[in-house]
Amino acid sequence: MQTMKMYVNGQWTNSVAGAFFSTYNPANQEEIERVPRAGKEDVDLAVAAAKQAFESPEWQSLKPSERGRALFDVARKLRERAEEMAMIETLDTGKPLSQARSDVESAARYFKYYAGAADKMFGETIPVAPNVIDYTVREPMGVCAHIIPWNYPLQITSRGVAAAISVGNTVVVKPAEDTPLSALKLAEIFSEMEVLKHALQVVTGYGKEAGAALVNHPDVNHITFTGSVATGASVMMSAAKNIIPVTLELGGKSPHIVFPDCDLEETVSWVMRSIIQNAGQTCSAGSRLLVHSAIKDKLIGILTEKMQQIKMGPGTNDSELGPIISQKQFERITAMVDRAKEEGARIVIGGKRAIGGDLNKGFYFEPTIIENVSHKSEIAQEEVFGPVLTVFEFETEEEAIELANGTPYGLVTGIWTNDVSRAHRIAGKVKSGQVFINDYGAAGGVELPFGGYKKSGIGREKGIEALRNYTQLKNVAIKMKSK
Ligand code: NAD
Repeated sequence: MQTMKMYVNGQWTNSVAGAFFSTYNPANQEEIERVPRAGKEDVDLAVAAAKQAFESPEWQSLKPSERGRALFDVARKLRERAEEMAMIETLDTGKPLSQARSDVESAARYFKYYAGAADKMFGETIPVAPNVIDYTVREPMGVCAHIIPWNYPLQITSRGVAAAISVGNTVVVKPAEDTPLSALKLAEIFSEMEVLKHALQVVTGYGKEAGAALVNHPDVNHITFTGSVATGASVMMSAAKNIIPVTLELGGKSPHIVFPDCDLEETVSWVMRSIIQNAGQTCSAGSRLLVHSAIKDKLIGILTEKMQQIKMGPGTNDSELGPIISQKQFERITAMVDRAKEEGARIVIGGKRAIGGDLNKGFYFEPTIIENVSHKSEIAQEEVFGPVLTVFEFETEEEAIELANGTPYGLVTGIWTNDVSRAHRIAGKVKSGQVFINDYGAAGGVELPFGGYKKSGIGREKGIEALRNYTQLKNVAIKMKSK
């Protein structure tokens, strides 16, 4: 087992207290590495370093196009090391290697996309009076904190960090305690680059220690948090004390709405992919299937057959379904499914731990379809964060919309129909930040604004829209003297 250091102020460092914690491979529960367990003093040093880097004459005098070129180099270096990065992500998260490879490519795409945006954050001129020139400037916030979850560590770190740095901020990243490795590998790339060397700090540690210290720090100017609703609410309260903005991405209970005139094969393949990807541990997982009664049995039949064929196993074997991230998460999924069973749910397929051979070394959950539950029940309303799909049937468009909107969340909606008018009517009525018609862009969509209605969050990531979170607007009015 090796010990890694964290990255603060352009240096590789241990925590001030000299404490460590271990990260484990979910496929076999073996320790992979030890990393520093940062506390408040370490976070103070990281925030001070980010502030100093932000205020430095070098950073302040950098042209946006030079920042862009440096971010472009990060994308290039990520692609050069794609295989190494993907393997680290698979070992740390348990996800299948091909999914990890696609995460690394998405990470590179974020850096490339925001590299190009660095010199394109235009202000406006505003007509006020003939003798007044008025313009707006978008200025960086300063120090941006990024609290990262364990499901897509490299991708989520990259989407926030690339956007924040693109418009001139410096950042402090706190990866999840279950998956700290890829953020440290990303820091290796930054450490090789003169221009960006001090713009990124990565502090590894627990949420209640390093995470809490970071979101409460008075010199942090913006927080981006991705994770659970409960922690998101507490992060928002910390931000309120310092009157700083937050971007919160808190997951969902996203529905697929399926009509009889859909392309059945295409629909089934996306419904399955969106609940199996990353073992269902995806904020935008399509975890509710709302299907018209006329095709419900047929659709469930095909889906069940396909799920029976899914290959489970360690991510390094590039299986289709990897292990759940930790025993804690596995037990949470099992308890939710057991409670649904007690309430009379019918388990169409799965519903329990997968065992045998390599599977015994990790916590694997069988691909699961559940029906015959009330839409008010926990399994229908709350994020399971496992490969568990809950099915409901409807007769009318109105019923489908009511079901789709009937949870506390509103992240993504998939609509499956060849009736264009119906698709647009429903897209206008569902309360979710993204709508896909005859498609479901769960993991891609670097260019598309992404974020939630209701308890799914606040603000938008991805696309140009994200850059507004990382800037503040200044209005300048100049009065001209008359001749
Ligand atoms: P969490 O929200 O507690 O953790 C996410 C991140 O927040 C981690 O980096 C953690 O260290 C940090 N954190 C925890 N407490 C903090 C605090 N007080 N201040 C600052 N940072 C803090 O999530 P979890 O416990 O790992 O997972 C629980 C549930 O959250 C999951 O079952 C799932 O439903 C949801 N989740 C959602 C997403 C998503 O992408 N939306 C990602 C991960 C987890």
